[in-house]
Amino acid sequence: MDYKIASISGDGIGPEIVREAKKVLEAVGSRFGHSFAYEELLMGGCSIDAYGEPLTDETLERAGKSDSILLGAVGGRVGVDSWYELPPDKRPEAGLLKIRKGLGLFCNLRPAILFEELSRACPLKDEIVEGGFDFIFARELTGGLYFGERYTKEIDGVMTAVDTLKYDEREIRRIAVQAFEIAMKRRKKVCSVDKANVLDSSRLWSKVVAEVAKDYPEVELTNMLVDNCAMQIVRDPKQFDVILTENMFGDILSDEASMVTGSLGMLSSASLGEGSFGMYEPSHGSAPDIAGQDKANPIATILSAAMMLRYSFGLLEEADAVEDAVKQVLKDGYRTVDIMSEGKTQVGTAQMGDLIAGHIR
Ligand code: NAD
Repeated sequence: MDYKIASISGDGIGPEIVREAKKVLEAVGSRFGHSFAYEELLMGGCSIDAYGEPLTDETLERAGKSDSILLGAVGGRVGVDSWYELPPDKRPEAGLLKIRKGLGLFCNLRPAILFEELSRACPLKDEIVEGGFDFIFARELTGGLYFGERYTKEIDGVMTAVDTLKYDEREIRRIAVQAFEIAMKRRKKVCSVDKANVLDSSRLWSKVVAEVAKDYPEVELTNMLVDNCAMQIVRDPKQFDVILTENMFGDILSDEASMVTGSLGMLSSASLGEGSFGMYEPSHGSAPDIAGQDKANPIATILSAAMMLRYSFGLLEEADAVEDAVKQVLKDGYRTVDIMSEGKTQVGTAQMGDLIAGHIR
């Protein structure tokens, strides 16, 4: 098959890590007979330098016409880069908000994977994480408390602040469908997390999720209260496959989960819209402190490319091949500086990409 990918390298380490992800995709293409064509697009500080704004309407339109987007990271250093003298809506990070909104990317996927080889970076006890774990959040990204009506005013002589948590059934259904579709490509388990013992929005959430579940009889659905889920992630992370949740719960829980996986340089993510279109990017930022030094860990971006293969292109065997290659390279003892430990072999960004691509070929 031929795939057209919008490649947005961005700023800082973005170009270095995207280059390695493409190297790995080329290896996938040659082994499995696919071709990946890239359209290079600008977003973030580099777009401000070229066009005076972090994401032009034309770039947004072109990105939306691709099969999916591979993104590095955007942003620079406040107080150092002149981009931060601009008003907030003109700064590099505003490009991210514009592209997510403009392309209707409402489902945030964040895997929490602990590779056995890196288990020393995990703060949990050995007996809890032995053998590693692998689950993923499907977090609603464009609704709920962060987007509801809010105000602060004096009511009856008392300063009062109000935030509104609102979801309609359509918003819940579309993220639930994505979560079940993702589960079908994994171990076929969805855990829907809410606070249905207190919140009306959560009761509607669990009702709609149960309706959607009827269309996926192969998938096992469980429900968990958010406070219990926060405990279960550290007590027994291996029990989870797909955690489906609303915006704020997902924000908090996915950060908790990323902490127990160890290194930022390993964490991939994706934002999906309706259908198979998605934007794939590492969870970390543009790391300007190490940009251009061949020090960045490209694995988060490489694993984001694997997610693209799995969730946007339906290429499950190919995605497995990338993930297996990452595991093998770690097993062989190769580490970038951020995950380096005693007795291992330190490599740079480009060599890490070469090693992973080499295993796929
Ligand atoms: P960061 O994630 O860029 O860096 C935090 C620390 O982790 C730094 O010490 C960095 O060197 C290290 N690090 C990050 N990724 C790494 C990798 N792949 N390999 C090795 N080390 C890595 O966060 P920050 O320093 O707070 O932000 C830097 C810039 O990135 C800011 O402009 C911020 O706004 C932007 N940012 C962008 C995104 C995005 O594009 N999605 C996300 C977060 C931050």
